[in-house]
Amino acid sequence: MAESKKTQNTESKLSSPDSMSICDSTKQMLNKAREDNVETAFERADTMKACPIGADSACCKHCSMGPCRLNPKDPYGKVGVCGATIDTIQARNFGRMVSAGAAAHTDHGMSMLDLFRKVVKGEIPDYEIKDTAKLLEVAASVGIQIEERSIQDVALELYEELVLCGVIYYAEGQPAGFIVGDELNEETFALHFAKGKREFRGIYEYMFSTFAELLPRRYRLLNFEQDLGIEALRKAKSAYNPDYLMEKYRLSLK
Ligand code: SF4
Repeated sequence: MAESKKTQNTESKLSSPDSMSICDSTKQMLNKAREDNVETAFERADTMKACPIGADSACCKHCSMGPCRLNPKDPYGKVGVCGATIDTIQARNFGRMVSAGAAAHTDHGMSMLDLFRKVVKGEIPDYEIKDTAKLLEVAASVGIQIEERSIQDVALELYEELVLCGVIYYAEGQPAGFIVGDELNEETFALHFAKGKREFRGIYEYMFSTFAELLPRRYRLLNFEQDLGIEALRKAKSAYNPDYLMEKYRLSLK
């Protein structure tokens, strides 16, 4: 009896599958899952009672001296063991959530791009580009010439365009640095430009490490491009303890 009352209470908390998404096929899937008693993230979210301290982002477990729990009802009453105030803890929690979320989505996007490249190069014969009109539309939208060219040609150029990626870093509400790079080969990603405001100490190290985290795992190497033989540049690049330096040659016909 108690069990059936509990089940009724749980069911009354659940949102209707039709209110969970604006996508018809997703609604269909969710209705089917509900009929078959398959639990989804939507049901778990409906029945999950959030931790009141976590909901206010007043908890920190970024180091082994914690977890530190501040009181959301008296936010400035105490600080974490390291001295972090509620403002620091909330800002850090937010920054980490954004970075982790962005990294997860970037990885999906880059995986799709990998697949796209392999399809275009004929390395995965089981897939093909079916919606060529969409491909041409997307290519034209980023300035790629589409007239009198094969679909494969356009797709390859689009891949090269899409694999070029960069990040702008903000600090104190202002752009503090940016980084741009693209793929050199299947296992190497080249960083073309990185500029950061020197007043933010450590910004280059921060940009390089967070950008590297965003890249797909298949890249084994980051290429920092040439140092032009300039001593200061060589020194700065060597500070990152590179795996190796590669000599570069220029060939010309006699
Ligand atoms: S508040 Fe400071 S001491 Fe506490 S877990 Fe976070 S980083 Fe560690």
